Amino acid sequence: MPTEVVICGAGPTGLLLACELTLAGVEVVVLDRLDARSGQSKALNLQPRSVEILATRDLLEPLLAQAGARIPGGHFAGLPLDYSGLDSRYPYQLGIPQARVEELLARTLAERGVPVRYGSPVVGLDQDESGVDVRIDGAEKSLRADYLVGCDGGSSTVRKLLGVPFVGRDPRVSAVVADVTLADASGAPVSWELPSFAPADGVVVHLIPLGEGVFRLLVAGPEQQVTDRHAPVTQDELARALSHGSGLRLGEIRWASRFNDTNRQAQRYRTGRVLLAGDAAHVHSPTGGQGLNLGLQDAFNLGWKLAAAVRSGAPAGLLDTYHDERHPVAAQVLANTLAQGVLLVPDGDARALRGVVAELLTVPAANRALAGQISGLDLSYPVPGRHPLAGRRMPDVDVVVDGRPTTTARLQCAGDGLLMRSDGVAGVGAVLVRPDGHVAWAVAPGDDDEPGRAEATARWFGSRPVREVRIGRPDGPPGGSNARGPSV
Ligand SMILES: Cc1cc2nc3c(=O)[nH]c(=O)nc-3n(C[C@H](O)[C@H](O)[C@H](O)COP(=O)(O)OP(=O)(O)OC[C@H]3O[C@@H](n4cnc5c(N)ncnc54)[C@H](O)[C@@H]3O)c2cc1C
Repeated sequence: MPTEVVICGAGPTGLLLACELTLAGVEVVVLDRLDARSGQSKALNLQPRSVEILATRDLLEPLLAQAGARIPGGHFAGLPLDYSGLDSRYPYQLGIPQARVEELLARTLAERGVPVRYGSPVVGLDQDESGVDVRIDGAEKSLRADYLVGCDGGSSTVRKLLGVPFVGRDPRVSAVVADVTLADASGAPVSWELPSFAPADGVVVHLIPLGEGVFRLLVAGPEQQVTDRHAPVTQDELARALSHGSGLRLGEIRWASRFNDTNRQAQRYRTGRVLLAGDAAHVHSPTGGQGLNLGLQDAFNLGWKLAAAVRSGAPAGLLDTYHDERHPVAAQVLANTLAQGVLLVPDGDARALRGVVAELLTVPAANRALAGQISGLDLSYPVPGRHPLAGRRMPDVDVVVDGRPTTTARLQCAGDGLLMRSDGVAGVGAVLVRPDGHVAWAVAPGDDDEPGRAEATARWFGSRPVREVRIGRPDGPPGGSNARGPSV
């Protein structure tokens, strides 16, 4: 039986994309080559924009309850970035293992009747004008779909089958990540701290308590500079690094893996009816905690566009805007991780540069600029119009609809296009919001721009319906603080 979309890969990117598509009523099949969810977590954080995205779909509450920490900052090569002044309801990083995020998304999908099909490695694809045949190892027949999305990680089979160039450079620095117990935890960190990455005699060691006696251990030193990423991580190697960098003694290793700073990006995100998202489209060093977040944000940008493409009435060229909008965003992340890599080189010249950058980051405007980038909150897509919100994400503000209090994030939970006309909400007369929360058009109170609204509606929604609501300002003191939601 043909389906509308096949997603290859049930990591965070594939799972969020599947959630977005099923929310729009699209038939989805999610395939993963693993026999079952691994339960392992490479990433441990959600950046503020990812937190906002999950809130926009009413998926945040369970994660807030499980989070290990709310960290009011990020970092750039270990140099602190202050998030506390960011104009968001969530001006912090949520410390939460990747596996918890994946569990939540997989559960949401299963509740919508779409279980992940494990043990299904994609090994081939053929596309024609009307669809894609997806070959699964061991299956007698191919799966036919309108579209295929490769969310299958950095060594993406889908990307290789398409022959899309993965442009960039090979790794220069390798490191080890492990979840471990300690022989004696006294003296070990008790709260989630951002890494300083200050090398002790050339060895960087960072420990984060995950709970129940388990610690996340990051190690980068001369011994970790092996060329084979799959070389086993040994007890001796980690015990030596831990004792050298922190004086602590290793207990047992629960899970360990090598990683590196390969920096590559797919030259194009769309080839006909096949698209790439998440690590399949871009890989870089984990410095700054951005990879998983970038993948979630790719999925959020792509989901509604792909849903429109499989149904009728989508505007021409909508699906191509996925590459146009997301390719530059990842390119910027790749660039900032390269820059962070330079600041982490353990030699005198790099240390001098690091000192200069550290000094610059004490200037609030400089710190704010990088914080806005790494948190994902300052992203703006090019759209016409002079309103300060045009192209930016719609802030989550407290409003009243039909006399009842709600928030603009809650109004977006259905994942449809939304035209909000406002009575007394500061700065906004009307705003047209895309399903990914970005503002397609806005006017100030008292301004009239019906031609602009009509043009933006046609540009992003074609003949597809847009929901219209009238929002008002809640009673009480004027908004603007994080307590009442951010300002507009
Ligand atoms: C050590 C380390 C620390 C990190 N820390 C952070 C951090 O703090 N913050 C952050 O934001 N990011 C971090 N990252 C990056 C983050 O983990 C990744 O960016 C994220 O996992 C990408 O998600 P994804 O869904 O795109 O790909 P993946 O998580 O790689 O998922 C791909 C899925 O596709 C499946 N698959 C692969 N091939 C096939 C196939 N042929 N057929 C079917 N299925 C297939 C795989 O089994 C897998 O389930 C870190 C990465 C590393 C290595």
